[in-house]
Amino acid sequence: MSSDQKFKYQGTVLQVAIPSPLRSLFDYLPPDLPIDSATDKPSKASSPESAAVDESEDRIKPGVRVRVSFGNRKLVGIVVKVEKGSTLSRNKLKPVISVLDKKPIFTPSLFRLLLWASSYYQHSLGEVFSNAIPARLRQGRQTRAEEEIWEVNPNADEISLLAVQRAPRQKALLTLLKKNKSTGIEECKAAGFTTQLLAELHKKKLVIRKTRFQSAAEPFPALAPASKTGIKLNKEQKKALAEVKENLDGFACSLLDGVTGSGKTEVYMQTMEQQLAKAKQCLVLVPEIGLTPQTVSRFQKRFACPIAVLHSGLNESERLEAWNSARDGSAGIIIGTRSAIFTPMANPGLIIVDEEHDSSFKQQDGFRYSARDLAVMRAREEKVHVILGSATPSLESLHNARSKKFHHLKLSKRAADASPAAMEILDITDEHLQEGFSEPLLYRIQKHLKQGNQVLVFINRRGFAPVLNCQNCGWICECEHCLTRFTVHANPASIRCHHCGTIKSLPRNCEHCKSPDLNTIGIGTQRIESYLNTQFPDTEVLRIDRDSTRAKLSLQKMLDQINLGEPCILLGTQMLAKGHHFPNITLVAIVDADSGLFSADFRGQEHMAQTIVQVAGRSGRASRAGEVLIQSRHAGHQTLQSISSESYEEFAVQQLEERRLSGMPPFSHLCLLRAESADIREAVKGLQKIGNSCEKLIALNGYPVELQGPLPAPMEKRAGRFRFQILLRSKNRRALGALMTELCTKIDSMKLSHKLRLAIDIDPQDLI
Ligand code: ADP
Ligand code: ZN
Ligand code: ZN
Repeated sequence: MSSDQKFKYQGTVLQVAIPSPLRSLFDYLPPDLPIDSATDKPSKASSPESAAVDESEDRIKPGVRVRVSFGNRKLVGIVVKVEKGSTLSRNKLKPVISVLDKKPIFTPSLFRLLLWASSYYQHSLGEVFSNAIPARLRQGRQTRAEEEIWEVNPNADEISLLAVQRAPRQKALLTLLKKNKSTGIEECKAAGFTTQLLAELHKKKLVIRKTRFQSAAEPFPALAPASKTGIKLNKEQKKALAEVKENLDGFACSLLDGVTGSGKTEVYMQTMEQQLAKAKQCLVLVPEIGLTPQTVSRFQKRFACPIAVLHSGLNESERLEAWNSARDGSAGIIIGTRSAIFTPMANPGLIIVDEEHDSSFKQQDGFRYSARDLAVMRAREEKVHVILGSATPSLESLHNARSKKFHHLKLSKRAADASPAAMEILDITDEHLQEGFSEPLLYRIQKHLKQGNQVLVFINRRGFAPVLNCQNCGWICECEHCLTRFTVHANPASIRCHHCGTIKSLPRNCEHCKSPDLNTIGIGTQRIESYLNTQFPDTEVLRIDRDSTRAKLSLQKMLDQINLGEPCILLGTQMLAKGHHFPNITLVAIVDADSGLFSADFRGQEHMAQTIVQVAGRSGRASRAGEVLIQSRHAGHQTLQSISSESYEEFAVQQLEERRLSGMPPFSHLCLLRAESADIREAVKGLQKIGNSCEKLIALNGYPVELQGPLPAPMEKRAGRFRFQILLRSKNRRALGALMTELCTKIDSMKLSHKLRLAIDIDPQDLI
């Protein structure tokens, strides 16, 4: 034993993950005293899985929450390991204040997933855990709702008991409590007793108050096969379903690659039916529940089991309730957005990621994870099948399918009797545009409206106009916090920064030359709205974008209006591209395809093609044939040509080839390190230091990793902070991971300025 080891503690130590950016775990001793710290009241009544009933060390297992003092704060952490011995000496170790759970709050497979995610995404485990649990649990509240209960005090004083004989209501209440043993407050009230009466008995020490926790709900019973749905699967659907069914036991991943309206949801539902019939739960991830309430209602109509819906509109107690019902197994189906991937399940049977290409599955700040990738990892841990579905699969998933890592299930035709929309590119090089519209486009809109149909006009820019400039000197109105253009908004007239949220009133004069000759350039949804209103005065124009749908239910109201089926113009941003069914839309007009064609981002083409194909998919879903018109000054552009004349897949295959030639994902793996600071020198200096350290590690270990930077980020300043970045690229994911682990250890020990914010983005979605 070396001399300093003598001072190291040899007893039981809890290694705890703390919700802080620090990547290391912290050693604590088991608790001194049995205290239930959810309320910090002395230990009390029985509870199924909480409260400090038994504080013996062996019940403290990985995955239970503990309350600890950390610096001068009290935090809720999660035990990751129980070890013998610490690298610290006894006097450096503090006991945890209390143990909050009797059982781990995660299932073992979910716990393993979170450990993996923390190391893969190089993010603090404490924060990863925090991300994965409802706010109430982060605060240290119990998993179950508490209930106040009353019991007769077994040591009641004889004299007081006698005294009560003369108070009939008190006596009656006491009799009830005696009979029931322990009685919930609600039960007392229901029997006609007031809390006042209870308080009086309590004062006389005749009764005692306790709390108990609601017990776990029963798992949902196996669902009987649905009665006739009236839907007969077509050949492709049958084939897809058969292939999934063949691989339903154990881990497998399928890409359900089917054009819009091809009946993907029907395949999901019939697969779910298989698992629900075995009393196994299904987890369904969707991009945005608020935007597509139809999806949830379709499941509700089809399946008679309890469905837990996790969306941003829930309050914290509803969220906890949904989480509990998934964890107990009482919910058969769990539907949620990105973070629902962390919902524990008692009897998992299937995971579905609908619209898997959607960028909302990637968390873009803090713990930057991809819920789609985690879904595959989770399925592996849970040993279940995962289906990724899309009409426009991401190139990553398509590559995995083509290289046989995923089952590739194709649905190439629309399921119902709808025919696919015909796509046409409208060359506007020589056209005179009125507020973005060419004559032929206006004519076509008019024609469809006259035939009693609905029209969808798509422009991916909200606001009135993207640029405000001075006609005298050419000055452009920019947000000083972001060095980007302000967008002009109407109602009220204002300028808004879409990056940092700054809003100002519309300037009357040029800041530079004071000229009042200001002019707006370009078009946004608001400008088109007012133009269409004058152009088609007898037709209702419904604008759907982030501004017009901010108020609760406003989107629903507009969707209801559209569903009435009267001719109208639906105008909106990519909010419209997400999974809606608009059976009466026969024309989709894409006003400006060019802004996406020349994006600097390596995924620019992919995203643009996905958006166009998705928007186009809204048209002609019922029996009426649909048309899609795309206005462009670059009608010959390969992307436009291939999506209009061929299929998304053919476009995607060409793109994959380009990615292969340029060595970009999915043919390589990326990691983006971004430093931000209000002080430009801090940002450069900090990142330089990290870059040097990284280069040394690469050279030392011979990692096959290429480093670019530090360079200014494409968006050089945002919300007042200057941004610089380093891009790491490698064909070898493992090597990149190993490098990052070493680098993060180095970064943790670097004394970087507090003014520096460092973000690590593994598998970044975009590089801006
Ligand atoms: P997707 O999810 O691929 O967009 P859906 O599953 O929503 O497609 O199907 C589109 C429409 O076609 C729905 O109204 C659905 O009920 C219907 N449908 C699906 N499969 C069939 C089928 N085999 N026969 C008839 N109609 C079908
Ligand atoms: Zn000017
Ligand atoms: Zn700004």
